[in-house]
Amino acid sequence: MIELKDVSVFFNIKGNNVEAVKDINVKINKGDIFGIVGLSGAGKSTLVRTINLLQKPTKGKIFINDEDITELKGEALRQIRLKIGMIFQHFNLISGKTVYQNIEFALKANNYPKDKIENRVEELLKLVYLQDKAKAYPANLSGGQKQRVGIARALANNPEILLCDEATSALDLENTQEILKLLKEINKKYGITIVFITHEMEVAKSLFNRVAVMNRGEIVEVNDVYSIFANPKDEVTKSLIHKNLNIELPRGVEGLIEEGKLLKIYYKGEKSVNPLISEVSKKFEVYISIIHGKIDYINDKPLGILLINITGDTEEIRKAENYIRCNVSQVDKIYSFEKEVKKIG
Ligand code: ADP
Ligand code: MG
Repeated sequence: MIELKDVSVFFNIKGNNVEAVKDINVKINKGDIFGIVGLSGAGKSTLVRTINLLQKPTKGKIFINDEDITELKGEALRQIRLKIGMIFQHFNLISGKTVYQNIEFALKANNYPKDKIENRVEELLKLVYLQDKAKAYPANLSGGQKQRVGIARALANNPEILLCDEATSALDLENTQEILKLLKEINKKYGITIVFITHEMEVAKSLFNRVAVMNRGEIVEVNDVYSIFANPKDEVTKSLIHKNLNIELPRGVEGLIEEGKLLKIYYKGEKSVNPLISEVSKKFEVYISIIHGKIDYINDKPLGILLINITGDTEEIRKAENYIRCNVSQVDKIYSFEKEVKKIG
């Protein structure tokens, strides 16, 4: 329902051409929660702003529900923009207006029928769980509450699309979770398409269905969020998720580990690691100790890493390792303990 075709945005700064967005082709399905991730300066904000034409593309076309909107102006552009709400990192609320008035403002600005405004504001306050804050001013709200006002305002005119530019990046963990939960709820309830850009991979993991990874103005990879974390293809993607899906050998542990074979097992998708470990220790004359581990759930599918140490007879260790290799998706690095533990990473 949102389609970007060969979209580029160039800025000319003092004679220097900055290619902020380059030849982007992407389709975002109706009802999807689509994420755009990338480092600061990658071009995410510029790209997302082309969707509601806050940023006119230098080249290329924007389609909403198969309609080419790129050249729309005046009333036609205004009508399209009503279909597209937006929320921002720093909320952009009017500080001199109450929560109620902030939401009311969005309705008045778009000529919402006067006699229906009060009802609509009440409805929106309820939707974002702020009924009791109608008379409060933004300064007296938490970050999460401010963003909920932002969401209510963005949804005031029943848009089909909600654009979110780093909408949780100014929030602490608790408020972030609260906003993500609310967005998921809204997506489910109204089928509204959400395009969410962020540099925070934790957010990507818990919110998105599909993700595009941006680097230097280009989309380097698009996939479902589980695949992005489980099988990153591009180097940029790999470095973005590295922190999320990596474990190091805990300091001081080296001395405690018996001589043996240390394996780092990547555990992806359906196969379960726990039965495998006990299976291996039954099948072969080895002992397995779990040194460290981490399992994430992305779209309810497990993704984890386990650091195990296998000890026992050399030949049995070899067989055990082989068996493990055949039964998990990836055994990335293997270190044999001799006298010294080599660095993991
Ligand atoms: P991101 O949101 O991923 O951090 P941006 O889209 O904000 O990235 O910026 C991408 C590039 O475009 C940056 O190099 C930035 O400096 C440049 N840029 C963004 N907006 C403008 C503008 N209005 N004028 C000039 N350069 C801009
Ligand atoms: Mg940005």
